[in-house]
Amino acid sequence: MPNEQPALPAGGCAVCGRAALAPQLIGTRCANPLPLGPCTGQYRPTVAPTDWVACQTCLGKGAVGSQRCNHCEGSGWNYARPQFP
Ligand SMILES: [Zn+2]
Ligand SMILES: [Zn+2]
Repeated sequence: MPNEQPALPAGGCAVCGRAALAPQLIGTRCANPLPLGPCTGQYRPTVAPTDWVACQTCLGKGAVGSQRCNHCEGSGWNYARPQFP
């Protein structure tokens, strides 16, 4: 069956929701360059598939046309629960 959805990220930033694709990023600082400065959040491991929702900008494909999706940074996923404690 056709399935262009990339695999679930290994984890996500609890503050800004940035996806961490590589498992070795878990527990490290996100440092996503946000308008107010680098994000101070930490990547947390993905606990369940419901931690993620398919990116609505690129429809989960990670790219819009030939361009990498900026919204999800090419991961195809958005963290479903940023800012949990
Ligand atoms: Zn972050
Ligand atoms: Zn996207």
